[in-house]
Amino acid sequence: MDCVFCSIVAGKIPSTPVYQDDLVYAFPDLHPQAPVHVLIVPREHIRSLDDSDAEKRALLGHLLGSAVEVARQKGLGSGYRVVVNTGENGGQTVDHLHLHLLGGRSMHWPPG
Ligand code: 5GP
Ligand code: ZN
Repeated sequence: MDCVFCSIVAGKIPSTPVYQDDLVYAFPDLHPQAPVHVLIVPREHIRSLDDSDAEKRALLGHLLGSAVEVARQKGLGSGYRVVVNTGENGGQTVDHLHLHLLGGRSMHWPPG
């Protein structure tokens, strides 16, 4: 299977680990949309949030908790945004479940 995030998790594509444990791996987004833009992915290949069955609920919680860990590590005490683009209309472009952690600037929407 040709999956860029599986290749990153396997170390076939180099990345800088931001956080990792036996279930998840976090690394900086290639095209950051904020001063802090980290991707948090399960080590196991799951296509999308919509592809996660009941048995994956604990893993989903673990991914969310990992985002909190990274936010604290990055000093995002004034706030941050966690986004999970899902499917074509959701804007998902990489078919390996991932959380975006965005922070380091105002994430207000609409701006102002
Ligand atoms: P999506 O649109 O699927 O929610 O987000 C995919 C994200 O993966 C994008 O923000 C994109 O910049 C990032 N991305 C795509 N390819 C790579 C890569 O090879 N390395 C890293 N670090 N990020 C990538
Ligand atoms: Zn994958």
